[in-house]
Amino acid sequence: MADKKLQAGGKILIPARASVCLITTVAPLRAAWGLPENFAPTSYVGLADPNLVWEALIGILVVCSFLAAAALWVLSALSQAKRSQLRRNAFIGYALNNLSQGAVMTDAQDRVVFCNDRYLEIYGMARSDLRKDITGPELLRMQRERGALDLEQFNESAGGPEGFITELPGGRSVAVKVFSLPSGGAVSTHEDCSEQRQLSRPERQLLSQELENTKKFLELVVDNIPVSLTVERVSDGRYLLANRSAETILNRRREDATGLTAADIFNAREAKLIIARDEAAIRKRGLLTEEHPISTKDGLRLFRTRRMTVLDEAGEPQYLIKTHEDVTDRRQTESRMAHMAYHDGLTDMPNRAAFLQALAQMIEACAGTDEEFAVLSVDLDGMKEVNDVFGHATGDKLLIEVAHRIQDLARGGVVARLSGDEFGLIIDGKQPAAGFRLAEQLAEALAKEFLIDGKSVRTGVTAGISVFPHNGTDAAALLANAGAALFRAKATSRGSISIYEPEMDQQIRDRRVLHQDLSLAIKHGELSLYYQPQAKSRQTVASSEITGFEALARWMHPVRGFVPPSDFIPLAEESGLIVEMGEWILREACREAASWPMPLQIAVNLSPAQFMHGDLVSLVHSILLETGLSPGRLELEITEGVLIKDFGRGLGLLRRLKALGVRISMDDFGSGYSSLSYLQAFPFDKIKIDRAFVINLGRNPQSAAIVRAVIGLGHGLEMSIVAEGVETQEQLGFLADQGCDAVQGFFIGKPLPIGQYAALVGRPFGNIMEPARKTG
Ligand code: C2E
Ligand code: CA
Ligand code: CA
Repeated sequence: MADKKLQAGGKILIPARASVCLITTVAPLRAAWGLPENFAPTSYVGLADPNLVWEALIGILVVCSFLAAAALWVLSALSQAKRSQLRRNAFIGYALNNLSQGAVMTDAQDRVVFCNDRYLEIYGMARSDLRKDITGPELLRMQRERGALDLEQFNESAGGPEGFITELPGGRSVAVKVFSLPSGGAVSTHEDCSEQRQLSRPERQLLSQELENTKKFLELVVDNIPVSLTVERVSDGRYLLANRSAETILNRRREDATGLTAADIFNAREAKLIIARDEAAIRKRGLLTEEHPISTKDGLRLFRTRRMTVLDEAGEPQYLIKTHEDVTDRRQTESRMAHMAYHDGLTDMPNRAAFLQALAQMIEACAGTDEEFAVLSVDLDGMKEVNDVFGHATGDKLLIEVAHRIQDLARGGVVARLSGDEFGLIIDGKQPAAGFRLAEQLAEALAKEFLIDGKSVRTGVTAGISVFPHNGTDAAALLANAGAALFRAKATSRGSISIYEPEMDQQIRDRRVLHQDLSLAIKHGELSLYYQPQAKSRQTVASSEITGFEALARWMHPVRGFVPPSDFIPLAEESGLIVEMGEWILREACREAASWPMPLQIAVNLSPAQFMHGDLVSLVHSILLETGLSPGRLELEITEGVLIKDFGRGLGLLRRLKALGVRISMDDFGSGYSSLSYLQAFPFDKIKIDRAFVINLGRNPQSAAIVRAVIGLGHGLEMSIVAEGVETQEQLGFLADQGCDAVQGFFIGKPLPIGQYAALVGRPFGNIMEPARKTG
C-alpha cells in the first residue's frame, strides 16, 4: 500500500519535474548567450526584430521541451502500468498454477480463459493439447473422451452445493464443483480426493455395518419388549410398525398389520373408540395414558395404553406411537396385596392391622359420648394338640371352620384373626355384660365338635375382655389389655373368661422379670433338686420297697422364695433356657445317684425342647461317663410331646438313648392324647399313669376302668406300670390289687432334698428316712 502511494506520488511529480528541468536548461543558455534577464523570445511578428526572434525561438524551445517531457511522462507511466499488470498476471498465474486444486475459468462466451497446471496434471493433459480458443464444452468433451468424465453427471450435479465425484480410469477420484460468475462464465474446481476416499472407505463400511447392526438390534429390542408397541402414520392412520407383543392386540401377525388402519383390524365399535382416543392424543400433541379392557384371544384383559404424538419439523403431528401394557395381572396382584395387607391368608378374615384400624374408628365414633364397647381377645384351646395329633393340615381346616362360626355369631360385627389361634372381636352395648355374653356364646358355639376330613375334632375358647373407655382410650392399649385379661384367663383355667383389671399388667410385667431372673438362676446356684421315692406296689407303705427316686427341679428365688416348677419349667421351655437347665439337672441327678451306696434307680424328666436342640444322646452318654453312673440305673421320663413334635426325630433319639443302656419312661400317660401308636412305635420300659386318674380312683368308676385298662395294656406290651400321685391307702390298695408294678406319691414320700432320704439310699445317719416317709 505504501508502495502504491509512493508510486502514485511519483506520477504526480513527473510534470513538475519536467518544468523544473526545462527551467534549469533554459537559464544557462541565456547566460551563455549573454542575454539580459528580461529577454523573452517573441512571435514571428518580431522577426524583423532580433529580440522578437529570440523570444519566438525560446518560446518554441519551451513548448517543445514541455511536449517532450509530457510524452516522456506518458510513456513511462504506460510501461509502468504494463509491468505491474504483467507482474500481477504472473503472480495470479503462479498462484493458480500452484493450487492443489485444478481450476478452469470460462468467460461469458464459454471460452476457456484460464486453466491451471494442476488441472492438466489431474486429467493427464498437456498444455499443448489445448487449442488456443478452446471452449468449455470442448474441454469437457476432451475429458469425456479420455474416460475421465460422465457428462450427464456433470450437468446434473456439478453446479450443486456438493458438486460430484468422478472416477478416473486409473482409479483415482476427483471432486468437481462449478461456480457461475456474476459477469457470465464460470469457474470449475477439480480436487483429487482419492486418498480421502480410500481412507474413508473401510470406515464407511464399518459405519454402515454398525448402522445395520444397530438397526437389527433395535428391531430385536422393539420386537421383544414385553409391551405391545405400534406406530401409526397420522396422515392416514395406517400402521407402520407393530412389534411381536402387539400381535395379541391386533389379532394377527405383525407383518400383516402394517399398512392397515384401526378400521381394518377392529370391529366398528372398537375402531370408533380407538380412533376417537387416537384423535384426542393427536390433538393434545403429547402423552395420553389410560387403562381400559381389550378383548384378546386370551379373553378380556386390562391394558394400560400410552399414546405419544411425534411431530414433524413443521411441528405438525406425524406419527402416533402407541404402547399397550397388559396390566391385568399387576392390578390383580395389587388388589390381592392390598387385601392381604388387611386380611389373614388362611381364613380370609380381617387381620390384626385391620382390627386395630377398626378399633381406632370405633374409638373415634364413641369418644366424647357415653357409649362403651368391649374388645374380646379369644384364644382357641387345644390348638397345639390338634396340630400335634392330627397334623397342621387338619389344624388349618379347624381354624377356617372356627372362623366361620365366629363370623356367624358376630353377625357382621368386627371380627379378626389376631394371630395363630387368637381372634379379636368388638361388641357395643352395656359393658362388660355384652362382652361377657358374647364370650359365653362363642364358648358355646365352639364347644360343639367339628367334623374335619371325617375326624371329630374338639376345641374350646378362653377369652379376655377389655372395655372402652375404662380400660384404655387408644386401640393399642385396649387390645393389649384384652390380651392381659386373656393371659390371666389361661392361667386360671382353659375355657374361662376374664375381664381386665389393672393389676393384670403387673402380673405380666412380673412374668417378664421372672424370666430375666431365671436366666441367672443356674449361675447364682438358685436351682436344686428334690427327690421323690418310687416304690414297688404293695398293700402297705411299709412293705412297698423303694426302687428309686424321681429328681424334681426346685428354684429358690432370692426375693420371691420358692417358685414351683409348674411356673418356671414352661417359662424355661418358652425361652429355650430349658436346654441349659436340663443339662444341669441331668448332671446333678446322675452325680447324686452315682454317690449312693445303694444302686437305686434315678428318674430324670426331659423336656421335649431338649430333643429338639443340641445333641441329647452325646450329652447323656458323656454325663454317664463323667459321673460313673451305670446306664441301667438312669431312667429318662419323657412325655408324648417328644414324639408329637417330630415323630421321626423323637423316635430316632429314643432308640439311640435306649442303645446307651438307659431306661425310658412314658410320663403323664392319659393326660394328653395318649396315642397308643406311640406305645406301639417304641418299646418304653415304663408307663407312668397320670395322677389325675389316680386321684379319681374310688371317686368315679371310669378312672378305675382306665387305670385297669392301662395296666393291662402295659403288661401286654411288656412295659412296667407306675401310678403317680398316690395319696391314700385306698389308692395304694387298689393299685396293688390291680397288679400295678410301682407307685409314687405323697403317700409313699414327698419330693425332698436327698438328705431327707439318706438312709434309703444307704448313707449312714439315715434315721430321718422314716419321718420323711411318714410326713409324706
Ligand atoms: P411330673 O414329672 O409329673 O412330676 C410329678 C409331679 O407330681 C411333681 O410336681 C410332684 O411333686 C407331684 N406329685 C408327686 N406325688 C404327688 C401326689 O401324691 N399328689 C400330688 N398332688 N402331686 C404329687 P412338681 O415337682 O411340682 O413338678 C411338676 C412338673 O414339673 C413335673 O411333673 C414335671 O413335668 C415338671 N418338672 C419338675 N422337675 C422337672 C425337671 O427336672 N425337668 C423337667 N423337664 N420337668 C420337670
Ligand atoms: Ca415326671
Ligand atoms: Ca408325671
